[in-house]
Amino acid sequence: MPDLNLILLGPPGSGKGTQGERLQEDLELPYYATGDILRAAVKAGTEVGLAAREYMDRGDLVPDEVIIGVIADQLEEAGADRGFILDGFPRTVPQAEALDAELTKLGRQLEAVILIEVSDEEIIRRITGRRVCSEGGHIYHLDFNRPETDGICDIDGSELIVRDDDRPEVVRNRLEQYHEKTSPLVSYYEKQALLNRVDGTADPDQVAESIRSLISTLSLEEG
Ligand code: AMP
Repeated sequence: MPDLNLILLGPPGSGKGTQGERLQEDLELPYYATGDILRAAVKAGTEVGLAAREYMDRGDLVPDEVIIGVIADQLEEAGADRGFILDGFPRTVPQAEALDAELTKLGRQLEAVILIEVSDEEIIRRITGRRVCSEGGHIYHLDFNRPETDGICDIDGSELIVRDDDRPEVVRNRLEQYHEKTSPLVSYYEKQALLNRVDGTADPDQVAESIRSLISTLSLEEG
């Protein structure tokens, strides 16, 4: 079977992180979530973190050259793995072009782009209930996915917090950025016959099931 190189695409709050974590477990592939990588860089005070912080706080995208370097390093490190899952990258057409060039350089190609579709209204409702763990970034929701103990991560016991960029005014900006800069990737990947749409309004188990069956179809097609 060829490498399973996958992209999760969708607006903020569409469930990419939740589905990415599940896929990572199911497929045992390296999982690169650029939002998580950048938040870790901000926390550690690295050069990338310092460059990214002000953009993230406003809900703007960080400049392409910052994030492209980060992801290229990760993919080169992944080396001989059987594939990868990208979540939150690419987010602009220049990023997608840079990814294509990097994969060509590595002699690899994308297998599928999975677009998780959710309306803006539903996203705002979801994000205001979202809580993340302060250590490992594990994701919970006050309505859909409560932790066993309020305010505490089931996995590592750390405190659950509201991400700065999950505040309502920042969420509205993130959605604007998505429509303006990221949604052109839908036709970009449609043209390459890589785009697969999944209804992201279903509950997380159903969404996971749709993604699983889609991936098994891909694997069958590839023989
Ligand atoms: P996320 O957790 O994926 O919603 O990302 C949080 C924030 O990180 C975004 O609002 C951006 O500021 C930044 N970010 C993450 N991935 C990218 C990317 N591919 N390009 C530019 N900015 C990004």
